[in-house]
Amino acid sequence: MAVETPAPSPATPSPVDRESSRHRVVVIGSGFGGLWATQALAKAPVEVTMISGTSHHLFQPLLYQVATGVLSEGEVAPATREVLKRQKNATVLLGRVTDIDINAKRVTSVSPMGTTVTPYDSLIVAAGAGQSYFGNDQFSEWAPGMKSIDDALELRGRIFGSFELAELSEDPEERDEWLTFVVVGAGPTGVEMAGQISELAHRTLRRDFRRIDTTKAKIILLDAAPAVLPTFGDKLSSAAKRQLENIGVDVELNAKVVGVDNYGVDIIDADGNQRRIRSRCKVWAAGVSASPLGKQLAEQSGAEIDRAGRVMVNPDLTLPGHSEVFVIGDLMALDKLPGVAQVAMQGGKYAARQIERRLRGEPPDEPFKYFDKGSMATISRFHAVASIGKINLAGFVAWLMWLAVHVMYLIGFKNRLTTMLHWAVSFIFRGRSQRTTTRQQIVARTLMARLEAEQAQKQAQQEEEVGTEPSPAAVGSAAAGEAKSQSKSGTDSVDQLTAAYGEKEAETDETARLKEAPDS
Ligand SMILES: Cc1cc2nc3c(=O)[nH]c(=O)nc-3n(C[C@H](O)[C@H](O)[C@H](O)COP(=O)(O)OP(=O)(O)OC[C@H]3O[C@@H](n4cnc5c(N)ncnc54)[C@H](O)[C@@H]3O)c2cc1C
Repeated sequence: MAVETPAPSPATPSPVDRESSRHRVVVIGSGFGGLWATQALAKAPVEVTMISGTSHHLFQPLLYQVATGVLSEGEVAPATREVLKRQKNATVLLGRVTDIDINAKRVTSVSPMGTTVTPYDSLIVAAGAGQSYFGNDQFSEWAPGMKSIDDALELRGRIFGSFELAELSEDPEERDEWLTFVVVGAGPTGVEMAGQISELAHRTLRRDFRRIDTTKAKIILLDAAPAVLPTFGDKLSSAAKRQLENIGVDVELNAKVVGVDNYGVDIIDADGNQRRIRSRCKVWAAGVSASPLGKQLAEQSGAEIDRAGRVMVNPDLTLPGHSEVFVIGDLMALDKLPGVAQVAMQGGKYAARQIERRLRGEPPDEPFKYFDKGSMATISRFHAVASIGKINLAGFVAWLMWLAVHVMYLIGFKNRLTTMLHWAVSFIFRGRSQRTTTRQQIVARTLMARLEAEQAQKQAQQEEEVGTEPSPAAVGSAAAGEAKSQSKSGTDSVDQLTAAYGEKEAETDETARLKEAPDS
């Protein structure tokens, strides 16, 4: 079955600008920065248009609990429209921003319905960051990252699917591969993921299988750095490592991942020795790369970007030379501030305040000052580490604090209530309320990438035939597509994933068609 999208219509003006003569604020992104900025403008004499690529606000810190079956996606990702339904001066537009013209002061976004152009008087860019594979994007095929609901659901399918397939396997070596889980990156996300997979293996699933002993599963946490949670300082870092080992996680540091495929990962250790870990389920929790919108802003304004693609902003979070454009959250670089939710939330509120002050004719505030409320990471049930000012805590008290803070910042009373219920199910008892996985969750991303590459290749071919210069986008995607079909990935990986995690006989028309494609 082919995926059909309506033919793109010519650019239409945003539905919002026709109606308002008030100061127009456009906010890009519905994450922590974008949502907090929009809400802070609730009483300002402005019209806010929030444009986001997703229709939800994502509470990323609990994404790993969606991946491991503790919480449902709805609990960590409420619809932005619902969150803002009472804010009359805010309009939500679904669309992926492809272009920001800071001289013409307009934002172009695309959706399956076409292209929309939204003019602004003030702009807040809070487009966040994506996963970085440090130049090895091909790893993503076999080691999904953890940045979106799609990622979390794909990982949920792969994690629970691996236990199922281990139960079915007749071959002891293959069974071990299915029961070996590798998490790359020992920052908070990697530590939390490894801890949760270990709890699944040692506690939740212990009695569910008949042929395999899930407590024999190997959970390996890898990092090229010499410490886990290095930003928490030596004491908490060591405490976290000890606790991980206590719950059965193998922590392997100074181990640089140099290869990832369907059957395992290749590593180079500090002494230069290369080795391989055989594993069917890999999770990538290392590295971030800022939204490409940062590069666009930098090119137009002359601002610098750092190695992660973040825009170096003025002390008042504005873009150099453009005081009407604020860049906040994970997309901004200022004073080595970390990429955490509090920086984005406080940045959003600060930008909103500056816009209000200008409209009232007041002088600007002091430069943005980040108030560090501390950082926390859970390691296992009843165990977390917390660093708040000079106070360092590890253990149960830190875990209770983690619980309270996360409930407090979740959006909506209903979500808080159901989250606490699901935590009770998982932490006091041994259940997981969200173990359902589907084959689509596991293969859809790979299949879509394949289709997109195919489409781009076709477009480039057609453009070549009629003698027009192929568009740079078509050339780039076609090259990626070619690389994919030449490597062992592409169609092969869709087949392997379908065969591995899906029901063979329920193969889709699309995978069958792809198998017959001439370049496979
Ligand atoms: C798995 C994980 C765990 C984390 N845990 C913690 C934690 O425990 N504590 C903590 O403080 N921080 C944590 N963080 C970091 C924290 O979530 C981020 O710092 C924070 O979300 C940054 O907010 P933001 O608004 O800048 O970006 P985001 O929250 O990422 O939001 C970006 C928004 O922009 C939208 N967008 C992106 N590109 C476009 C485009 N081209 N067009 C339209 N919309 C676009 C996205 O759809 C999204 O709505 C974690 C992050 C992850 C991924």
